[in-house]
Amino acid sequence: MAEANGPREACGVFGVFAPGEDVARLTFFGLYALQHRGQESAGIATSDGRRIWVQRRMGLVSAAFTEEDLRELRGHIAIGHTRYSTTGSSVPINAGPFVVGSGDETIAVSHNGNLVNGESLRAELQAEGVVLESTTDTEALAWTILRAAGRDWPERIRAAMSRLVGAYSLAILTCDALIAVRDPLGIRPLCLGRLDSGWVVASETCALATIGADFVREIEPGEIVVIDERGVTSYPAPEFSPEQAMCVFEFIYFARPDSAIMGQRLHVVRQRMGAELWREHPADADLVVPLPDSAVPAAIGYSLASGIPYAEALIKNRYIGRTFIQPDQRLREQGVRLKFNALPEVLAGKRVVLVDDTIVRGTTSRPIVELLKQAGAREVHMRVHSPPIKWPCYLGVDMATRDELIAAHLSVEEIGKAIGADSIGYLSLEGLFRAIGLPRNRFCAACLTGHYPVPIPPEQFERRLGRRSALAAAGT
Ligand code: SF4
Repeated sequence: MAEANGPREACGVFGVFAPGEDVARLTFFGLYALQHRGQESAGIATSDGRRIWVQRRMGLVSAAFTEEDLRELRGHIAIGHTRYSTTGSSVPINAGPFVVGSGDETIAVSHNGNLVNGESLRAELQAEGVVLESTTDTEALAWTILRAAGRDWPERIRAAMSRLVGAYSLAILTCDALIAVRDPLGIRPLCLGRLDSGWVVASETCALATIGADFVREIEPGEIVVIDERGVTSYPAPEFSPEQAMCVFEFIYFARPDSAIMGQRLHVVRQRMGAELWREHPADADLVVPLPDSAVPAAIGYSLASGIPYAEALIKNRYIGRTFIQPDQRLREQGVRLKFNALPEVLAGKRVVLVDDTIVRGTTSRPIVELLKQAGAREVHMRVHSPPIKWPCYLGVDMATRDELIAAHLSVEEIGKAIGADSIGYLSLEGLFRAIGLPRNRFCAACLTGHYPVPIPPEQFERRLGRRSALAAAGT
């Protein structure tokens, strides 16, 4: 996906319990591996069994911590957080992890996801006299846990969970334990790993590999896992439910291709998506070109299934990211050229299949097609390895309002014309789940279908429609 303001995952969480280890440094490197899940801010909290230290800053993990910071983060338990904002704006006070409470009653919380009832929880807490410092749902979540009744932390967390609606994968730090929690629908991933000297929890398995931990298993939907001096204690969900709602976009785009979720290595799954895409939308072409980097596995799959040679013809500047320095008008007009260059020697006279993972607003697809043609491509056939995105996300992905989604208002054929492609094909929902190879009732695909796995409060629902779609929904 080329769009600078395309869908963004709303956080990565990490935690480690390892007596005798430099847990702050392990967490720093774990967060490095989860940088793709959030680039606005990064934070680490640690505990030595008596008190909690925390360091949170805006920016990338590499810029957020100095050597001195890491030395000052003492103890044998740590949690970390990388953040994009879905609720609350991008300011230092909203950076995670959140620390609430005092003395033995202090907890730090790293959260990946979004509570759809975050606003009502905030209002209830404020009505009870709680002073909230940030504008995030995570702070409300942390206070809800802190104020819940129960004899111990698992009981209090379970009581709090009965009030939380939405997506939450959590790493919680108490003075003497690391606690991992996943919402009952398992919307965001969370896994458990083993070090020689302790235990790790992480949003994705790639972070385990980075610090030399072995994958043990995923935290189950609705499960609470407590890691302390006694080892690992699991508190499974009180009721078994075959229904899950793992975000299907973790499989399509968000999670790193070297991570595995639900037993599936995502590079391999995305290759299968590319092969399905070829079966559903073949093209008479000379080259298969990925939009780097996220569409590379699917383009390889399309190439292998079709026999059309794979070629890298777009070179991405990997250091652009989300910049706080706005380009001037002349550079803005250059558009995608700030991010991509094309190779004329590869493209001259060729009929090209361009593989992308999604088209959100469509604003940058047209310049990419133009870039390929200006570099000599004779034809450009757009192939997208997800179905069209027609609905906004309320569960932890900063996507767009419905008004802004090109597929909410144009047919596939109209999108092809709008972006200047010679043909266009999207992977079907059936093809997507054939490629994933797991039952559909274990996934959320609401941004593709409009069927949300949890009820969305009407005011939130309308806010992400945009004016035009809100009027249409109201029948005016
Ligand atoms: S609405 Fe889309 S992006 Fe959001 S959780 Fe569901 S599948 Fe993922």
